[in-house]
Amino acid sequence: MLTKDRILDELKRIAAPDGRGNIVSAGLISDIVIEGGEVTFALSADPARLKTMEQLQAVVEKAVRNIPGVNKARVVLTAERQPGKAPAQAGPQQSRAVGVPGVRHLIAVASGKGGVGKSTTAINLALGLKSLGLRVAVLDADVYGPSMPKLFGLSGRPEASTADGKRMKPMARYGVEVSSIGFLVDEDTPMIWRGPMVMSALTQLLREVEWSETDVMVIDMPPGTGDAQLTLAQQTPLSGAVIVSTPQDLALIDARKGLNMFRKVNVPLLGIIENMSYFTCSKCGERHDIFGHGGAKAEAERLAIPFLGEVPLDMDVRLRSDEGRPVVATAPESRHAAIYRDIARQVWAQLEGGNLQKPAPRISFE
Ligand code: ADP
Repeated sequence: MLTKDRILDELKRIAAPDGRGNIVSAGLISDIVIEGGEVTFALSADPARLKTMEQLQAVVEKAVRNIPGVNKARVVLTAERQPGKAPAQAGPQQSRAVGVPGVRHLIAVASGKGGVGKSTTAINLALGLKSLGLRVAVLDADVYGPSMPKLFGLSGRPEASTADGKRMKPMARYGVEVSSIGFLVDEDTPMIWRGPMVMSALTQLLREVEWSETDVMVIDMPPGTGDAQLTLAQQTPLSGAVIVSTPQDLALIDARKGLNMFRKVNVPLLGIIENMSYFTCSKCGERHDIFGHGGAKAEAERLAIPFLGEVPLDMDVRLRSDEGRPVVATAPESRHAAIYRDIARQVWAQLEGGNLQKPAPRISFE
């Protein structure tokens, strides 16, 4: 009869990747499920050593398949924190995180839910800040769906930067440095992220990258307001947060959750951006408020936080995003680029302790 112990006995014969004991004693195996002749379990992987882990995954799978009575073995790589490393998750007693050397301001771009254009906003805000002459970096913290490699049109892996190979060089394009789990994990290697591991991967992306001197680092947050997001907001030394919302009521309810999350951990709110605010028909020139319009502005007023601007729904924005040619960098003369630059100016003014109550004059195209 197939038992967990029988499987563990077999797995104990496989050495752990760091050479210390076997994969069972190293705590890398968990969640064994046996159903008939089908065995499924999790193998904890360090995302920084994914190649090694994939090889190990194949070895482990084969070993289990060879056990009499097993027809099928499924080994799921999970991004669980490696044993022996300092726990990344802080207890409530731990207060704000320490700063990142050389980085003046970290700002979060967040949304209460996915698909509202958070990443598109993050990259164009970053490029808007860059166009003000600032030194800018982007940290893609959306480990569940990293989109910065695509938005920047970047592929490949970051180079190791020092002799010990422990730190990486950031990737760079359009004069902006960027770090993303998307450069480390292959698209077709599904990773299951467990809470503490999200923070540990992000700590690596933030602190084990040799950033140049940076005025503003824009962090593309994971969508939503769950524990991972809250921990991230709490443990990253943020100067402030920008909330992206669509005009729909529902999105606004989610956006409110986002606002509250940052309030809870005392991160200043730099303002709300209404994305996909309205659509101007390229044929008839008429403006259509597809999702309703102005909800975010009213909400910002009600909550007494700055309303940073309205970004219309635009075919060109989407096409350029999908091609890795963000609008602010590749169509700087466009209406959209001007809107993002205007938002960037307001954000920077607030970061530098400027005119919080007096936002820069809004550009109007009507
Ligand atoms: P999120 O990060 O919130 O999931 P994305 O930035 O990935 O959202 O945007 C989702 C989709 O919407 C993408 O295909 C993107 O190109 C598109 N998009 C975002 N903002 C706009 C906009 N203002 N106009 C047109 N398309 C947009």
